[in-house]
Amino acid sequence: MAKPSKLTFINGKPTLVPFDQVTRKDNDKAYNQARGMQQDEYLGFYHSTEWTHMRDAIRQRDLGLCQRCGMELNLIDHIVPSKDDWDDRLNPDNLQALCTECHRLKTKREWVKHNKGAERYMSINIVCGLPGSGKTTYVINRKAKHDLIYDYDALMQSLTGLPSHEKNFDVHDYIILFFEQMLRKLKSEQTFDNVWIIQTYPDERLDGLLSPYHHINHLLLDTDKQTCIDRLKQDKRFNQTLTKVFNEFENKNFENFKRIRE
Ligand SMILES: [Zn+2]
Repeated sequence: MAKPSKLTFINGKPTLVPFDQVTRKDNDKAYNQARGMQQDEYLGFYHSTEWTHMRDAIRQRDLGLCQRCGMELNLIDHIVPSKDDWDDRLNPDNLQALCTECHRLKTKREWVKHNKGAERYMSINIVCGLPGSGKTTYVINRKAKHDLIYDYDALMQSLTGLPSHEKNFDVHDYIILFFEQMLRKLKSEQTFDNVWIIQTYPDERLDGLLSPYHHINHLLLDTDKQTCIDRLKQDKRFNQTLTKVFNEFENKNFENFKRIRE
């Protein structure tokens, strides 16, 4: 007796094949079933006790603060999204507290990376504050893998070999030349995850130049004057030129800046 057969399409042609032969349609059905199970597992995870406990632990570890900007947290985020790395979904090293705004920007960047390959969604962070307020530490603790950090004081120091906060005015011109070129190039690019611009006080030209092209975060390290002086003295970075900087700082306008304590 001939084997029962079934009608299927092979290379677009209707063809009769033995009933037990596995076809592409069978494979698709199995794939969809497996995917459905994964989807249930995915949604179930976010309601599991394991996740709620871990979420509370990270909230405590991160002191209730967004790990990007230091504002109050709104959620616990998977640094590598759980959809991309399911095995790391409960790894504390892959978890961080974020505020809604930083999470929105991160998600947008991830979306752009997935959908447009190498293109990035770049944000610009202007970080201001008194000498000794912790600007560089703040940035180093938050920078992503592919970031650009412009730090005026660090450049001055490395180009002159002078102690920190002392200036060579001829070198200053070179640094500003580089800064202006850098801004011009950044206008038309999405090259980095983040650009960090570290300055004592804000440069008003920055917003005008970059805001039509990029999202800009304004951050002010709001450390009190005495703490800054104590830190600088402790690190042997305090010198008399700083008195002028401290005085000028008090007359600057930080109206549109988010105040951060570090
Ligand atoms: Zn944030």
